[in-house]
Amino acid sequence: MTESKIIDGKAFAEGMRRRIAAEVQGIKAAKNIVPGLAVVLVGENPASQVYVRNKARQTKDVGMNSWEHRLDASTSQADLLALIARLNTDPQVDGILVQLPLPKHIDSSLILDAIDPTKDVDGFHVVNVGRLAAGLPGLVPCTPLGCLMLLKDRLGDLSGKRALVLGRSNIVGKPVAQLLLQENCTVTIAHSRTRDLPAECRRAEILIAAVGKPEMVRGDWVQPGAVVIDVGINRVERDGSAKLVGDVAYEEVEPVAGAITPVPGGVGPMTIACLLQNTLTAFRRRHGVP
Ligand code: NDP
Repeated sequence: MTESKIIDGKAFAEGMRRRIAAEVQGIKAAKNIVPGLAVVLVGENPASQVYVRNKARQTKDVGMNSWEHRLDASTSQADLLALIARLNTDPQVDGILVQLPLPKHIDSSLILDAIDPTKDVDGFHVVNVGRLAAGLPGLVPCTPLGCLMLLKDRLGDLSGKRALVLGRSNIVGKPVAQLLLQENCTVTIAHSRTRDLPAECRRAEILIAAVGKPEMVRGDWVQPGAVVIDVGINRVERDGSAKLVGDVAYEEVEPVAGAITPVPGGVGPMTIACLLQNTLTAFRRRHGVP
């Protein structure tokens, strides 16, 4: 049977959640404790509310403890820091996630760096950023981890592959490039100042698009047979209704690519599954469970 070109992130994430749930059950049976994730939301950003709700639901679904801290948009930076300090010392809390973006009067990097790095399940603390860059074990940002898992599942050994990462954000582009480098890929990072982007993309055997521009990567930018991971989530109007599209022009690229993630149903579902995985990892390290 020939393998489908479509990389099904939804099915992969479901499998991960099943495995995590089984592990949580095993830990509970052996030790009568379960991993716990605290999610902090400041303000009423509608997209953030949906993300936080989904994170909490999936955390409970795998049998972990879940706490939601919903704070008013006018919450002061000092009050938010005080909450983080409490969560840092709470022995039941293994993971802390502060939903971004934060209101403008709050300094996001100050808040992220106040989280105990061993509980930083988003992997955004400067210590975890440094550990990833240095090739040391730490907590790795969820979306990049999800991209890597899908790639390894499809390709196996990535060693020596030419990879192009389109985008250099701290959340996606840079960490995904670090992970690919650790897997011995030859990595190019492209951004808004890159010259002749289509030619750079065409050289890649692995193309990761994390640019936030609807359908920017066209069919003739892609090397035949390349594996394309589309991180983009863009809401656009089509024929009078709202639709989600990626950073890749799927209809054009799918016939050229060797494999491709759809939007929705590709990288998106992997992000929360990797958050649960990171919470389990943080729990294991904190409790010395192998
Ligand atoms: P950012 O806006 O932080 O970064 C975008 C990057 O793309 C920047 O490095 C920017 O370059 C580069 N860029 C922008 N325009 C161009 C251009 N015309 N040509 C070349 N490069 C360009 O975005 P994020 O990394 O946070 O997110 C990227 C996408 O991924 C978004 O669609 C977002 O919604 C999605 N996303 C999806 C997640 C998921 O769970 N699936 C999670 C996180 C993000 P420069 O640095 O030069 O400005």
